[in-house]
Amino acid sequence: MALDMIIRGGQVVTPWGVGHWDIGVQGERIAAIAEPGALPDAGARILDATGKIVIPGGIEPHAHAAFKFVYPWALEAGHRAAGPDEISKACAFGGTTTVVDFANWRPGGALIDAIGNRDEIFRGNSYTDYSFHTVLVGMGTEGATREQPIPIPLDLITQIGGVIEAGFSSFKVWTTNTTSTRARQMTDFGAVFGMMEQIVAHGGMLAVHAEDEDIVMYMSRVLHEQGKTHTRFLPTAHPALSEDLSFRRVIRLAEVTGAAIYLMHVSAKEGVQAIAEARSKGLPVFAETLHHYATFPASVYDTEDGPLYHTYPSLKYEDDNEALWQGLINGTIQTVATDAILCARDLKLGGHTIEDTVGGNPGVEERVAITYTEGVVKRGMSLRRFVDVTSSNAAKILGMYPRKGAIAPGSDADIVLLDPTVRKPLGLEDLHGVDHSVWEGWDIHAWPTTTILRGKIIVQDGQLLGALTDGRLIADRRTSPEILTGPAC
Ligand SMILES: [Zn+2]
Repeated sequence: MALDMIIRGGQVVTPWGVGHWDIGVQGERIAAIAEPGALPDAGARILDATGKIVIPGGIEPHAHAAFKFVYPWALEAGHRAAGPDEISKACAFGGTTTVVDFANWRPGGALIDAIGNRDEIFRGNSYTDYSFHTVLVGMGTEGATREQPIPIPLDLITQIGGVIEAGFSSFKVWTTNTTSTRARQMTDFGAVFGMMEQIVAHGGMLAVHAEDEDIVMYMSRVLHEQGKTHTRFLPTAHPALSEDLSFRRVIRLAEVTGAAIYLMHVSAKEGVQAIAEARSKGLPVFAETLHHYATFPASVYDTEDGPLYHTYPSLKYEDDNEALWQGLINGTIQTVATDAILCARDLKLGGHTIEDTVGGNPGVEERVAITYTEGVVKRGMSLRRFVDVTSSNAAKILGMYPRKGAIAPGSDADIVLLDPTVRKPLGLEDLHGVDHSVWEGWDIHAWPTTTILRGKIIVQDGQLLGALTDGRLIADRRTSPEILTGPAC
């Protein structure tokens, strides 16, 4: 067995345990994991991982490259959000090797065309591998207004099976329009029911931005009536009650249809509780939170930079932060995501109301290190669990496992060396493609030093060695029967 690379001396996190092993890489795959010194090293490049924690490349399950802002003031100012090039570069430096973004269906087209259309901006323009959740109706869908929504064509729902069979097993819907002024993005519950039926029949996963439309819109009216429209009232407009009601309604529909669901950006302890109850019944209910949501309480909205911390629905309170961390540690919540939109500080600070505070977060680069610092160092999360929530579980839920998300023979050689001796306040000079970070000055306890994508070192010691042509579309995502039928991760 001639190996191309041997990673030596590190503490390796594998699906079956944590230990000091050598990893042999052949081409794009992991060929062997062995006792130290046991692998034949003739002709192999040796990577010294002494003192490092060796983990599978991170998976960012929720990113929005080149996001189109809908706020008139943002459009006028010519603001833009980072494309796949900048997002994937930040990911590579931060120890993430796969990004999952969103492909919106366009009226008039076939559902499967959404994938190809979205790939146009990624192909040849990504340092990391990537794939897409298919979105049947999303913000900005042409011609759809709140007053005149375009119902999802029934034949579109029946096209879901073909998209799953083509290798794209996840779909995304909103159960709310999110704010009272946005273009329509909500999918009515009847269509969600139809989608779930298709998803069950063909073996897919439905990702849901779940909020209760009636509560959110009612609270917005009340806040406007009271003149309380400042950013600081976002947790009132998007209360825990909304998450509680909506999660339970979606979960009940999933229970009836048998659908596997992935609840996005859980923000409140009530949401965590609803997920825990569903999973205790054996339902295939999975969930993500955001490192922003787990780390910052809503009191930051009162600061001058308040809008920097926001994405929809909203930050909640300190007991919610802790419930999210405990959910990540005890297995109730499966993934840490960013809801990534990389944009300028000026843009992020441009909106100040419950309608126009800019959503989406920079933070893909910080995600792995913040999870290590807050989870492993401060709260005793195991290394195995840390790898689950930053990589393996997203791969399982979205149908990429064990090709992605595992250091195991046969898996893609997506490998990150994490240096746990780093301890410093995070500075903007550590980050890429951003002019601000809510974690600037945050004390971090680890940082990735080497990122390998399918056997190629794309970042080493602060140097970008990858190319924009390195990233490939992952087009064979098939979620396993275990995940589709129960809380198997
Ligand atoms: Zn999002």
